[in-house]
Amino acid sequence: MSGPRVSRLLGIDFGGTNVKAVVVEDRPGADPTVVGSGAVPTRADEGPAVVIEQIIAAGRSLLARHGPVDAAGLGTPGAFDPAEGTIVMFPNFPGDWVNRPLRQPVAEALGLPVTMINDARALTLAEGTIGAGKGCGTIVCLTLGTGIGGGVMIDGKLVLGAEGRAGEVGHQIIEPDGPQCGCGNRGCVEALTKADVLASLAGRETVEEVYRAAAQGDPRSIDAIERVASYLGIALANMVTVLGPDRIIIGGGIMSSGEQVLGPIRRAVSRRVTWVPPETVSIVPAELGTMGGAIGAALAARG
Ligand SMILES: [Zn+2]
Repeated sequence: MSGPRVSRLLGIDFGGTNVKAVVVEDRPGADPTVVGSGAVPTRADEGPAVVIEQIIAAGRSLLARHGPVDAAGLGTPGAFDPAEGTIVMFPNFPGDWVNRPLRQPVAEALGLPVTMINDARALTLAEGTIGAGKGCGTIVCLTLGTGIGGGVMIDGKLVLGAEGRAGEVGHQIIEPDGPQCGCGNRGCVEALTKADVLASLAGRETVEEVYRAAAQGDPRSIDAIERVASYLGIALANMVTVLGPDRIIIGGGIMSSGEQVLGPIRRAVSRRVTWVPPETVSIVPAELGTMGGAIGAALAARG
């Protein structure tokens, strides 16, 4: 039989909180669709061997229900060596991960070719393909959470750069002598805006509490959100000036707070953008929800 071929792809996305997996069906000429999904809490504190077993188990569980698939994508936090499939940098994650092989044990256990992709780049790819950036040529994606992730698509193509690690919107240096960042640099926008920084600025335990308090009019929480948004605004204004994106997409765990954070970010970007009319800069929430990263990992495995 010849003609357009339907393929199925497994996508797995693991972070400090959950291991998520999806099976995506990719039909030529149509949007990819999710045919099955699952998630389990990450046992991050038990170390890399346990987490890698969880990744494999998540994959097997979906393959049993929705397989077979043609290939798999693995969304991973931090940085990895694309040639070796080993972890290079793993900020915000406990345990002895650096230099640990990741792609090979997963590929062997699942019996599939595995493509690795940074988790925020995976979300960017998913949002740019079937989410909030669908139909846009150039997008910048920013994910707000434990860390600050990001990704860039130009003319519909995910930008990975010479070493395969480009798109770290959250590691732009905003304050040269600012606080130490998990990446080893100082003053990155991540070090100034990540979840525990926002919580501590507001004098709260969690960002959820910060947004709840701000909604009730707590001045310290409102100020903390404004301060974080002003740094994010600088980072995004830089991206607008350099890339001129059609759309900026904001995702991540705290996006349930929606306009509470988007409004201050929009105002902060408007104050900093001079080369294009600020009102033309479109900043929107991500659309794909918590499975966006896993969907993007699956899409990264497309042949
Ligand atoms: Zn950094």
